Amino acid sequence: MRDCVFCKIARGEIPASKLLENNEVLSFLDINPVNPGHILVMPKKHYETVMDIPEKELGRVMEMVPALSRAVVKVTRAEGLNLFQTNRACAGQTIPHVHFHIIPRHSTDGFSFGWRQGNYPEGEMERLRKDIIKTLGDYRLR
Ligand code: 5GP
Ligand code: ZN
Repeated sequence: MRDCVFCKIARGEIPASKLLENNEVLSFLDINPVNPGHILVMPKKHYETVMDIPEKELGRVMEMVPALSRAVVKVTRAEGLNLFQTNRACAGQTIPHVHFHIIPRHSTDGFSFGWRQGNYPEGEMERLRKDIIKTLGDYRLR
C-alpha cells in the first residue's frame, strides 16, 4: 500500500534497524521501544489485521518469533518477554499493517498492560461459545 509506513519500510523507502528478513517477512527494532530491544515482526505484504491475513502467511510471520525472542532475551538479559499484537484503533493499533511486538521484559521495568478482567453472567459464556462455533461453520485449517 502506497502510503503505509510499514510497506515503505518493507520496500526500503524509509530506513529501519532490520533484523531477520526473508521474501515474505521482515523484523526490525521499534523506533519507540517499551524496553530496549523491542522488536516488530510483520509480513512484507500489506494486510491490516490478523482478520485479513491468510493463515499460511501469518504462519510465516510466526516462524520468526522464537529465534528473535531467544536472541533479544539473551542480548538484553531480559527475564522474559511479551508477544503483543493490536488490531484496529480501538485495540491500540496505530499502524494499520499487521505486526507483532516482541517486548523484552524485566521485573523492574514498571510496564503493565493494566488488564481489567471480568466475569460472565450466568449462561453468557456458553452462549458465546455456541455463537463462535456456529460462525466458524465448516471452517477447517487448510
Ligand atoms: P501499534 O500501536 O500499531 O501496535 O504499533 C506500532 C509500532 O510501530 C509502535 O510501537 C511505534 O513505535 C512503531 N513505529 C511507528 N513508526 C515507526 C517507524 O517509522 N519505524 C519503526 N522502526 N517503528 C515505528
Ligand atoms: Zn502496509
